[in-house]
This record gives sequence, C-alpha cells and structure tokens, in this order.
Amino acid sequence: MTETSPENTGRIAFLGLGHMGEPMAVNLIKAGFDVIGFDVLPAAVEAARRAGVPCAKNALEAADSASIVLTMFPSGAILLDAYRGVGEPGLLESAAENTLFLDCSTIDVAQAREAARIALEAGHRSADAPVSGGVVGAEAGTLTFMIGAAAADLAQITPLLEVMGKKLVHCGGHGAGQAAKICNNMLLGISMIGAAEAFVLGEKLGLTHQALFDVISTASGQCWSVTTNCPVPGPVPASPANRDYTPGFAGALMAKDLGLALNALEHEGVAAQLGPLAAEIYRKFSDEGGAGRDFSGIISNIRDSSQG
Ligand code: NAD
Repeated sequence: MTETSPENTGRIAFLGLGHMGEPMAVNLIKAGFDVIGFDVLPAAVEAARRAGVPCAKNALEAADSASIVLTMFPSGAILLDAYRGVGEPGLLESAAENTLFLDCSTIDVAQAREAARIALEAGHRSADAPVSGGVVGAEAGTLTFMIGAAAADLAQITPLLEVMGKKLVHCGGHGAGQAAKICNNMLLGISMIGAAEAFVLGEKLGLTHQALFDVISTASGQCWSVTTNCPVPGPVPASPANRDYTPGFAGALMAKDLGLALNALEHEGVAAQLGPLAAEIYRKFSDEGGAGRDFSGIISNIRDSSQG
C-alpha cells in the first residue's frame, strides 16, 4: 500500500451531490475510494445512487464513519450551518476526532476562514479546495483545485484531488484556495467584459470577427476570454458563442463569484474600480435573463445597448 492509495485514505463522506458533486463522487468511486454520499434533495440522492454512489440516510450518518468529510455546497452559509448544526448536532460535533473537513464549494473567504477556525476548535482538521473547470471538468476528472490547507494535511487530500482534477495548486493556509479562486474569477469577469466591448467596437469599425481575433489572439490583448471562450461565433469553434451561449460557465455563477470578490475587496479595503463594476454588470446580466447563459453572452447586452 503506497502513501497515496485509496485504501489508506479512509472513508470519504461526500455531501452535496449536485451538478458538480455527483460526477466528482462517481470518479472517486471508479478510482477505488470508499465513498458514502448524501444530499438534502431526495432527487439528487436518487440520481447519485443510480450513478453508483452509495448514500446515507442523512449527513451525520455519512460523516460518522468518515475520515474525510468533503462538501460541495451552494454557499458558505449552508456550509457553516451544516458544520454547526441548526437545532440539532452539526457535523463538527458528531464526526470522530481529527476528521479532515475538505470544502470544495466556492464560498466567501471570510466564511472559509471561519469554517476552518471552528473545525480546528472542535478538534478536527480543515482544508478549502474550490475548483474551476465546471461540470465538464468534474465529469472528466480534469478540474483545477486551488488549495488552502496546512502542509501536513496535503498528503491525505492529494490522492483524491488527483482523481477529480488534473491540476492542484497549494495556495497557502486556510482560506487561501478561496482567495485565489475569487481573484482569478474577478479577473475573468473583467476580461470578458473587455473582450466583448472590443468585439462590439470592432463590429462598429467594420472589422470582421476573424480579423480582430487573429490580431488579439497573437497580440498584447491576448487572454482566455478571447482565445478559449471567444464571445463571438466563428474564430473558436468550441466557444459557447457557437451554441447560442449555452454554458460553459453560467452567468449566475459569474455573478455569484463576483459578489464574493466584492465582499473581499470591501473587507480588505482595496481601491478597486473594475471589480465592483464587473460585479454590478454580471448581477444585472444574471437578473435579466443571463443566469442560465454562458457569461460571454454579456456581448449581446453591450451590442443591444449600443447606438445605431
Ligand atoms: P448544485 O446546486 O447543483 O449542487 C449543490 C448541492 O448541495 C445541491 O444538490 C443541494 O441540494 C446540496 N445541499 C445543499 N445543502 C446541503 C446540505 N446541508 N447537506 C447536503 N447537501 C446539501 O451546485 P453545483 O453547480 O454542483 O456547485 C457546487 C459548488 O461548486 C458551488 O459552490 C459552486 O459555486 C461551485 N462551482 C460550480 C461550478 C459549475 O460549473 N457548476 C464550477 C465551479 C465551482
């Protein structure tokens, strides 16, 4: 048995079997890990069982026998409630001493730090490892994990993260994974708005999409928002613009992540201008029909609001 084998990782309680959680749990099982799942949504439990994930009756039952409690929840408030328990014992109280609480959700940095603090206070260990790569990456096992954890806990979580992802970055101590994730996604939101404005301006100035793409993709404006997720159809055949902006990365998730970035900007007193503006632009995009569209669909709003 090697240090990185599923056999000596112990049982993994996988809580939150939604769009991301279910395929991640399935990949762990396929790789030989001992996984017990749970979701508050009966339909998610049923779907997970059908996909081969054994499920417990409730979260505490799943966590009781686990050495790692992995969470993939919608928000930090839900995570903290599950840890503390609401009107009943929480996960931290019922789990065996020294359980490793590994949160892979995307949540507020302050909430991630609080989650780690109360886990440690209860005699456990904690790590945050939010992901990028979306449902496609979750299914293919090609996610990127941004990890905030004590160096001593990396050996236990690395083997399972390597199954679910292809790139792991240890960003620092507790909360550092979430911090890196929102910095990246704030830049992504800003760069997509910039790319979309450049293409709409190019249209007005009589440039073809291909000509502008050929310049930007090899010049100093080059970025992922142009070279991989190009907001106009044509130049990058796999980009969501070629399938009427079916995500990809949905506007609702970009709005959520920019909201988390905004909280952190305010908390840290950063004199940012574009981050808050991008948060406002994507909140509006999401509220006004873009929630389920790829975030590159912001180009339609810019085009529609333009004169002429
Ligand atoms: P989702 O809503 O599909 O799944 C979340 C699941 O958690 C739901 O099934 C919900 O019922 C369950 N849940 C909520 N409270 C629970 C509790 N107390 N116990 C057990 N289960 C509970 O969301 P998702 O798309 O799978 O995203 C999960 C996380 O990953 C989010 O934080 C999201 O921001 C992040 N993320 C999502 C994507 C994506 O493309 N979907 C990409 C990167 C990161």
